[in-house]
Amino acid sequence: MGSKGQLLVISGPSGAGKGTVCKALIEKSPIWISTSCTTRKPREGEVEGVNYFFIERDEFLNRIDKEDFLEYAEVYGNFYGTPKSEVLKMLEEGKDVILEIDIQGALKIKSSYPKGIFIFIMPPSMEELRNRITNRGSETPESLKTRMECAYDEISFASKYDYAVVNDKVEDAVKKIESIIVAEKCRVFKIKDELLGRF
Ligand code: 5GP
Repeated sequence: MGSKGQLLVISGPSGAGKGTVCKALIEKSPIWISTSCTTRKPREGEVEGVNYFFIERDEFLNRIDKEDFLEYAEVYGNFYGTPKSEVLKMLEEGKDVILEIDIQGALKIKSSYPKGIFIFIMPPSMEELRNRITNRGSETPESLKTRMECAYDEISFASKYDYAVVNDKVEDAVKKIESIIVAEKCRVFKIKDELLGRF
C-alpha cells in the first residue's frame, strides 16, 4: 500500500459506540468509511450497502479465495471482511479512510501497514457498556454474556493501539479523533518530502 491518504483503523468492544462515533465523524470531516461485507444477518433498521454488504457464507469464502479482502475475521461466529479494491483506490486518491473493524482485523492490518493510525474506542465503564448493549435490544441473554466476556478480553488489547479514546460523549470522542488526524498530518516522517521541497 503506497498510499497518499491516511488509513484510520478504529476498534473497540461491541457497545463502545464505534459506529455512532464513526458516523458523526464522517458527517463532519471529509473521510471515507469503508463498508464491510458480513455473513451476519441484518439487524432491524440496518441497510444493505450502508451498514454492511450482507452476503452468504459461500460467497464470502469465494471472495477470500479471490483475495478480495484487505483483511477478514470471524467474529461471534460470523465472517466480516474489508473489501480491498475500494480502500486502496481511496487512499491512492489521497482520501483519508476509516475502517471500523475488530481487533483481529486491526492487528493484521497493523502488521502489513504500520503507517495506519490505530485508535481504540473505550466505553466509560463496563456498567455503561452493558447498558448500551442491552438497550440495543438485539441480544439474547446468552449473546449479551458472550459480548461482555469478549469486551473484557478486547480491552486488554488497547495497548496495541496508538490512541485510546473514551466515548463518554460522542461529540467529545469525535473532537479527539479529529485532533489525532490533524496531529498525524504533522508527523515529520509523513511529510518530510513535502518539507524538503519547500526549503
Ligand atoms: P457487529 O455485528 O456488532 O456489527 O460487529 C461485530 C464486530 O465486527 C465489531 O467489532 C466490528 O467492528 C467488527 N467488524 C465489522 N466489519 C469488520 C471487518 O470488515 N473486518 C473485521 N475484522 N471486523 C469487522
